[in-house]
Amino acid sequence: MGILEVKNVGKRFGGLQALGDVNLSVAENTVHAIIGPNGAGKSTLLNCLVGKLIPDTGSVMFDGQSVLGRKPFEINQMGISRVFQTPEIFGELSVMENMMIPCFAKRDGAFTPNAFRDMFKDREIVERAEQMLEEMNMADARDDNAATMSRGNKRRLEIGMCLAQEPRLLLLDEPTAGMARADTNNTIDLLKQIKDERDITISIIEHDMHVVFSLAERITVLAQGTPLVEDTPDNIKGHPKVREAYLGE
Ligand code: ADP
Ligand code: MG
Repeated sequence: MGILEVKNVGKRFGGLQALGDVNLSVAENTVHAIIGPNGAGKSTLLNCLVGKLIPDTGSVMFDGQSVLGRKPFEINQMGISRVFQTPEIFGELSVMENMMIPCFAKRDGAFTPNAFRDMFKDREIVERAEQMLEEMNMADARDDNAATMSRGNKRRLEIGMCLAQEPRLLLLDEPTAGMARADTNNTIDLLKQIKDERDITISIIEHDMHVVFSLAERITVLAQGTPLVEDTPDNIKGHPKVREAYLGE
């Protein structure tokens, strides 16, 4: 049994069958990638895992418990954290303030305006946020305005904010989209470091094959809402169906 078990998941938008019949098993403490052409249903699948969408059919089990019917914040508390396609940080706040928010959420179950007013008086939160910034190699950027950072560093902060919640499953939707090569490579290194240092399962949707083949232990190829193959990177590279459907050969 994987930490994540997706069985017969289907999702329709009006006349469009975005997900047909998705079966997927992600083993604990591995890096799993989902690849597939634009419109294949990758983001829809992720949305079904985090409670943003409710599938029409099938089941989604995380660590033996169903996520279906739970609200996104409840699923988050179960141990699933998600990094979105566009960075979701608070541009008007400092790097440190951004990092403190998930630390409050983790400890108190919510981040309230009250907590915000006196946030720096909360030693426990300050220390935890500082420790997370250290781990992310962002201690020097502590007081920088988050909006002024490079795309790569925004992504680094956002991943750190997810990790502050101590998830067991980290989901990333095209984390290197729109990045320059140097930022992409930094993100690959960061994810490798996270994998090495923690007990965590990572499931990543990615367009960039360099990223996928650098990180993933298993790859699922999704085409038109249905998994085409699921295999190791080496086998995926040589798979005729994949070359045809995805690599366009
Ligand atoms: P991917 O992430 O693989 O590029 P998506 O999951 O975003 O694909 O989309 C799969 C299909 O579902 C696409 O044809 C897309 O246009 C459609 N779709 C996605 N979200 C919605 C929605 N909220 N309403 C209607 N159609 C949608
Ligand atoms: Mg997408």
